[in-house]
Amino acid sequence: MQRPYNFSAGPAAIPVEVLEQAAAEMLDWHGSGMGVMEMSHRGKEFVSICEQAEADLRELLAVPAEFRILFMQGGGLAENAIVPLNLSRAATVDFVVTGSWSQKSQKEARKYAAEVNVIASGEDSGFTTLPDPARWQPSRGASYLHICSNETIHGIEFHELPDLRALGSDAPLVIDFSSQVASRPVDWSRVGLAFGGAQKNIGPAGLTIVVVREDLLGHALAACPSAFDYRIVADHHSMYNTPPTWGIYVAGLTFQWLKRQREGAASGVAAMELRNKAKAQLLYDTIDRSQFYVNKVAPHCRSRMNIPFFLQDETRNDAFLAGARARGLLQLKGHKSVGGMRASLYNAMPLAGVQALVEYMKAFEQKHA
Ligand code: PMP
Repeated sequence: MQRPYNFSAGPAAIPVEVLEQAAAEMLDWHGSGMGVMEMSHRGKEFVSICEQAEADLRELLAVPAEFRILFMQGGGLAENAIVPLNLSRAATVDFVVTGSWSQKSQKEARKYAAEVNVIASGEDSGFTTLPDPARWQPSRGASYLHICSNETIHGIEFHELPDLRALGSDAPLVIDFSSQVASRPVDWSRVGLAFGGAQKNIGPAGLTIVVVREDLLGHALAACPSAFDYRIVADHHSMYNTPPTWGIYVAGLTFQWLKRQREGAASGVAAMELRNKAKAQLLYDTIDRSQFYVNKVAPHCRSRMNIPFFLQDETRNDAFLAGARARGLLQLKGHKSVGGMRASLYNAMPLAGVQALVEYMKAFEQKHA
């Protein structure tokens, strides 16, 4: 079925095969006589769904055995509190601020950590470039260093995760990969903890994915709510409290879909990375070759997932969006804090969707330039 192309930053498009399967199984999952939303999370049916989803995610992201995968709730913003509650040890924590999301994270951490150091920031550049990791000076004895590996609003991405050991620090790296998860492989040798909401690249809102190194469990502050204590969540296999069962189920369908994807010899997340590179390249090339559209982010850190762009003549924004909608190109309006346009090209966006967008952009430019 050909649906409109949905460029939302999240909640975002879900592969149509996943939606169709969820619809087909809505009233009766695998002959159980129940839909997934109606099942006890402790029954054998849902336990099998959850275990399969976790195993598939581990395989797709090549998560090493010393990491635990947790299915939680509260989204990225709740993790901004849950991470310092679990990892700060009431000591110093470091942040690198590269856009709105890491900015929010460091502010929230101040409620829980003894000291928060912003050791590098891209604010002077208007968040158009990444502060060079080679120049970062992590605080001595910091409990962790937090980055946002893809800034969804500013369209800035770390194409290589910083190597903190090379900077003389043994602090674990915490990454907010909400808008990057499953779009490319992760170098786990550089990561202590990764978190992200599911509603961009994985499935419906309500599920939060946390991947955390085993040795970081068990250090929560006394005030940490039990349901947010990573040790407790891990010990209960994400079932200490009722998990977001529907979200886990749909995420599991997406993982199966991802495992089926092929691009030449590559499969799964490696195949997605090839596609995501090609999609982003097509859109950035179109923007850069025109006198009509602009993206201000430095080329080496441009996001593959979220591409903000501006019309040189901003009085045409409404006409651009209306014309896009009429062609079945949905949710291209930029985030309210920065304006302009934003095209989010998560895994569920096919190359054909980006081709349709650039054709429209060229036609709009020809008409109005
Ligand atoms: N971090 C990033 C990078 C995000 O893009 C978002 C949501 N757009 C959040 C955190 C906040 O996530 P949530 O709304 O799930 O709390």
